[in-house]
Amino acid sequence: MSAVQDSASIACRSQSSVKRNNGTCIPAVAARAGHRCESSQTPEQAVGYRLELDHSIPSIKCGETSNHNLALAGVECSRAKGPRTTALNPVTGREARLFNLRLERREDRFRWSATYRSIFGKTAMGRTTVAALHLDDQVRRRVRVHWRRLGLTP
Ligand SMILES: [Zn+2]
Repeated sequence: MSAVQDSASIACRSQSSVKRNNGTCIPAVAARAGHRCESSQTPEQAVGYRLELDHSIPSIKCGETSNHNLALAGVECSRAKGPRTTALNPVTGREARLFNLRLERREDRFRWSATYRSIFGKTAMGRTTVAALHLDDQVRRRVRVHWRRLGLTP
């Protein structure tokens, strides 16, 4: 059983343990994330609207609506991830775990190009997440050119 599945199982031991979001945790989650999407590192300043909260372990898999399980996310990443914790590895074509930012260290799974224009997966998990969340698609790479100019690189 994977770490993500382990976490989901723990969260699912008691359905009554699922908490409802009362909205008070949004500032804390946003501050912890440095006001960046925690998947793509897109800064809130660059998108021009407040990023939303997403569940690291999806609520459909009994992930809690608590600061520990919530992440700041851009709409593109949130929609691409959906309720998934796994996706197809683009190299092997086999199911692989997606990056869980509450269980993994970003620097172990991803690296940026020297210009911060492209992001690459360093591991199977990183490559799977980059592909599944479209973290390195052409539009995102085009926009990241401006991050550097504006001093918004991660
Ligand atoms: Zn994002």
